[in-house]
Amino acid sequence: MSKMTVRNQAVRCVIATLAATAAANAGTFRIELDYMVAGDHSHRPSAAVIDAVVRMFACEGHTLIVDVDDALPHYTELQRNPNNCTELFGYSGVNNSFGALRQTYFDRQNDNAWDYCIFAHNYEDVGCVNTTSSGLGELGGRYFIVTLGSFSGQTGTTFDQAATLAHEFGHVLGLSHCGVSDCDSIGDRSVILPSIMSYRYQLSGVKNVLTCNGMIPPQAIFREINYSHGRLCGLDENLLSETTGCFMAPVDWNCNGAIGGIVSQDVSNNRNGVGWCGVAGTRGIINDENEWATVDAAARDRERAVRPEKKRDIGCITHEEWLELQDEIAARGGCPQPALTTESCPSGENIFVGNNAGVQLGYCSLPFDGPAEAHVFAPLNSTYFLRPGEFNVTNSLRLTKPGIWLAPIGSATIR
Ligand SMILES: [Zn+2]
Ligand SMILES: [Zn+2]
Repeated sequence: MSKMTVRNQAVRCVIATLAATAAANAGTFRIELDYMVAGDHSHRPSAAVIDAVVRMFACEGHTLIVDVDDALPHYTELQRNPNNCTELFGYSGVNNSFGALRQTYFDRQNDNAWDYCIFAHNYEDVGCVNTTSSGLGELGGRYFIVTLGSFSGQTGTTFDQAATLAHEFGHVLGLSHCGVSDCDSIGDRSVILPSIMSYRYQLSGVKNVLTCNGMIPPQAIFREINYSHGRLCGLDENLLSETTGCFMAPVDWNCNGAIGGIVSQDVSNNRNGVGWCGVAGTRGIINDENEWATVDAAARDRERAVRPEKKRDIGCITHEEWLELQDEIAARGGCPQPALTTESCPSGENIFVGNNAGVQLGYCSLPFDGPAEAHVFAPLNSTYFLRPGEFNVTNSLRLTKPGIWLAPIGSATIR
């Protein structure tokens, strides 16, 4: 083929539309969902909320069935066991307990194929103290609650509701806030986990915040409400390259308004109210995680009627923490929460192309060896991120697959 130099711009090839293909790991998930109704507000999620989450699973080939079922009496707070303030889901001693409501209203209690969710107002936190937490989910197990009573209009926006439904169900499917099990050291606001499981993205949208923070160009393939596919590069928070970013765009990691050099910055922590552009917190190695692989495994378990044991309960982002994150995003130029939509399923993926002999994966940390491999193995309509350098392809190859080729940093030449 003729020489093609890609320099900080998109080369747009032929674009064709292609229906989304079903994943090989297709499974079925079932949620019975009850909701509290008060005199002046209802926690019932709309059809648009449910559709958005159903679509998120459908894009991966999974079937999600949500039965929006019973209206429940409204209680301001779901109470914990006063004799064991770590226990919420198992306590049924008072009317305003999850256990009492579950016993009365969960119709498929004896059918292991079903998980159970209540859209409630608030819940009592560990220690039997008040919290403005958005929800609580069992890691493993069957039960979860969405509690947006401290958020907008006492119910949260429809985006809050959809993202939090997906987030809390994510815990039931085995997902944490940081991609791995130990979020105490990593923090639960990782920039490198492009997922509504990370506090950084849950309520403001994945693509919205990635774009706002300058981490991706507009051509990158992300959706607002999704789990991660684990394709981004890991980062060492002590050695962040501003020029390289995540190989998708240069990133101003240290928030000084300029791109350049190697810098240190905490971009994952949540402790002590510090964030990306705040005071430096604990720094370390952080990685993306293929959360969908965990969900696929959960689907296979359900097909075999296997229910993983609950490991623990995970409490989720509070209203105060969300306000703090909004401040942080506002400091980057302001990126308001997107409107809730039922997002389309892209056929392509973000594909990384570099010089990494013999590798044919296309992840950031394991890029395709060159354009030829990427062209053969990548799905149609992908966005290709070329590392700087020169790439030789055989003279018989024509890069005809529809997609977008980018050299977001430096320049790359294909001969
Ligand atoms: Zn309420
Ligand atoms: Zn959570």
